Amino acid sequence: MAKENVLDVVCGVRLDPVNASYEAVYEDRMYYFCSDRCYEEFQRDPARYAQPEFGGEFQVPTEGEPDFTETPAL
Ligand SMILES: [Zn+2]
Repeated sequence: MAKENVLDVVCGVRLDPVNASYEAVYEDRMYYFCSDRCYEEFQRDPARYAQPEFGGEFQVPTEGEPDFTETPAL
């Protein structure tokens, strides 16, 4: 019965997505939660919990130029 487990990123518990009662989509990724409490906590601040290492591949946005506006010139 090897099921693909997912991580409840709020409390850190592992869940079977089939049994996860609460799920949310954030930035095209599914998140699963063990309880409405975790779900609401995620909804309150998704960016805080949406950690790429739990979700899979993640592309760091590359910026054109570094912004060094406050380079100390001594
Ligand atoms: Zn939880």
